[in-house]
Amino acid sequence: MTGLELLAYNNKQAKEESEEEPEFDSQLRLELPLGVAGQDLEIAEDYVTQTIDIRIPYADEEYFYDYPMLGSSDHIDSLSYENESGYGIVEFITDKVYEISSSYDENYFYIDFLTPHEVYDKVVVIDAGHGGNAPGATKQGIYEKDIDLDIVLELKEIFDTSEDKSIGVYYTRTDDSNPSFENRAGLANKSDADLFISIHNNSTQSGRMSNINGTQVMYDEKKADVEHGTKGLAEICLEEVTAMTGSSNKGLVEGNEIYIIRSSEAPVALIEVGFMTNQTELNNLRSKEYQMKVAQGVYNAIMRAFAEGY
Ligand SMILES: [Zn+2]
Repeated sequence: MTGLELLAYNNKQAKEESEEEPEFDSQLRLELPLGVAGQDLEIAEDYVTQTIDIRIPYADEEYFYDYPMLGSSDHIDSLSYENESGYGIVEFITDKVYEISSSYDENYFYIDFLTPHEVYDKVVVIDAGHGGNAPGATKQGIYEKDIDLDIVLELKEIFDTSEDKSIGVYYTRTDDSNPSFENRAGLANKSDADLFISIHNNSTQSGRMSNINGTQVMYDEKKADVEHGTKGLAEICLEEVTAMTGSSNKGLVEGNEIYIIRSSEAPVALIEVGFMTNQTELNNLRSKEYQMKVAQGVYNAIMRAFAEGY
């Protein structure tokens, strides 16, 4: 029996055993193993793959059968249970991005799946280019993937320390991983993001060091006419990043051939912050001070976009 089949079976059993259907306000109800309190359960969410793990201490191999889970399977694509060295792990894979809302009483643990927009006024997805064994542009032993990530982590720092918690921000990566293009665009589409911004860095076509420098932003020219769409967002990003960094404005670039751009349902902008093939710009891009300015520019762009009605 799959986890979802077991859930359906439990619901049926519960209905047959009692006159009335067991009622609770949440989507799912887990029973706490004897001696385990609700606060001992740990929830881990991987938004990029829409995977939610709930770790239950002292849940053994038979837990799923001994303590039947009840509730609705809405939005759950797959449900499994595994026992691992003293822990039981209930794993959900959901059809979209959800925030878990949980509560508990003496006997039960309750789970609800909230959409990002039920939790936040606005939703932004930030993508650091490349990662893992895909370094992107490489110059003088410096990988583009690391600069892209450093900038995104500076941006994350700004959001994390902001008083304003009305904006939900999801990141395709915050470490040296390399999510698939499908997962990157999927995070934006499955969270119904209001904005999708990707951070990259440029190099000349030949890859040789040159005088060419400055910031470019890519957008989806096939959706260029959409009001509050990709082209307007790209313009805002270009203006705000160059205003903060003082880099030269090299204009907008058509980017429909880029998978994450053409696949994004949200207004999307891919910022090529600077040229790694320009020595001055490469030195800048490596410095924390400059990375912080870039991050502030992207942050300002996001705030301006929302102020302008995105
Ligand atoms: Zn790149």
